[in-house]
Amino acid sequence: MDKIKMTTPIVEMDGDEMTRILWQMIKDNLLLPFIDLKTEYYDLGLEHRDETNDQVTIDSANATKKYKVAVKCATITPNAARMDEYHLKEMWKSPNATIRAILDGTVFRAPIVVKGIEPCVKNWKKPITIARHAYGDVYKAAEMKIPGPGKAELVYTAQDGSETRELVHQFTCPGILQGMHNITPSIESFARSCFNYALDTKQDLWFATKDTISKKYDHTFKDVFQEIFDREYADKFKEAGITYFYTLIDDAVARVMKSEGGYIWACKNYDGDVMSDMISSAFGSLAMMTSVLVSPDGNFEYEAAHGTVQRHYYKHLKGEETSTNSVATIFAWTGALRKRGELDGNAELSAFADRLEKATIDTIESGEMTKDLALITTIENPTVLNSEDFIKAVAKRL
Ligand code: NAP
Ligand code: MG
Repeated sequence: MDKIKMTTPIVEMDGDEMTRILWQMIKDNLLLPFIDLKTEYYDLGLEHRDETNDQVTIDSANATKKYKVAVKCATITPNAARMDEYHLKEMWKSPNATIRAILDGTVFRAPIVVKGIEPCVKNWKKPITIARHAYGDVYKAAEMKIPGPGKAELVYTAQDGSETRELVHQFTCPGILQGMHNITPSIESFARSCFNYALDTKQDLWFATKDTISKKYDHTFKDVFQEIFDREYADKFKEAGITYFYTLIDDAVARVMKSEGGYIWACKNYDGDVMSDMISSAFGSLAMMTSVLVSPDGNFEYEAAHGTVQRHYYKHLKGEETSTNSVATIFAWTGALRKRGELDGNAELSAFADRLEKATIDTIESGEMTKDLALITTIENPTVLNSEDFIKAVAKRL
């Protein structure tokens, strides 16, 4: 059989720990035998990030702007323990944060639904995709501990030097204070990414904020979405037979629980962070969740939603058997390959991505799965496979 040809490379961002082990197994067993794989390789493993003073992360994000499609392995975000473990020069920033800051855009997270792994919420029949704004708010906030009585104000100094002030609180005792921001162009690109993704995937779009309490901050998000929708998308949505629906976040949460699923739920940065973990665990497992960063100028970075599975990696290093779920990492690759195929007019490549996804799902539905799924499946007497044997079972089916 001839291998499937590629014309343009995908940006390949390698990562850390157990997911780095899975990464190589996926390439060796599921990709290289079938595809003449073209990638531009960036090693985002923590040692190499440290060696390059994190330049490699910046380079990989810039390469994504050039080639438009990237696939990323999970990476360690350094903390104090990692500083000692890897003798790091600096506590480097989260690669995801660095990449997001360069590419801008929105993170879409959707569960991978298989028969036999039933959602905790019994009426959820179709996946719920979370669209998380990836800029600003509490993630770029300035904070203070207030030691005692005093006045706290928000101060905006315009370029001409004039000041606008808003009293936050007249402290009479110790307390805490936080100032956060967002920028209109980022909210606009968030809105457009969501509307485009809804059209792309033919799903309704929901958006919710706390605009009744936050009459300027959250209300601006609501207004920006509505203005862009009315001006640029209302007709296209009608044509596609999908709807845009805004509601208060409390109401949205209640409706989500009672819904059948099958829509995109756009969330501000913090809401998206929290709600995506709720959605993924309610659908079964973080290891069954896809994640893609879509930038306003049409760049796509695919990854798994989970981390590097450190505990399994230490077992692996001790020579013990692991049963780590590779599904989300496989789907990161298929997402990138399918998008590459779409952008290059390479139908064979996109069809391969579909077949690999089907082989993965069929393997699980036939009862062969990793331990995390075996613990929650409704399939009787599942076969529990180790990390490598699961990937080999998918390869056999493929
Ligand atoms: P994690 O890697 O997501 O794993 C947490 C636990 O969830 C695991 O110990 C495991 O539970 C279960 N799990 C997650 N993925 C699994 C999979 N594919 N198969 C089977 N079980 C899975 O989170 P963490 O251990 O808190 O973080 C480890 C490192 O990942 C950290 O250094 C963090 O910075 C990094 N991280 C990276 C990203 C990213 O690159 N996008 C995201 C989050 C975290 P059991 O141990 O009970 O089996
Ligand atoms: Mg989170």
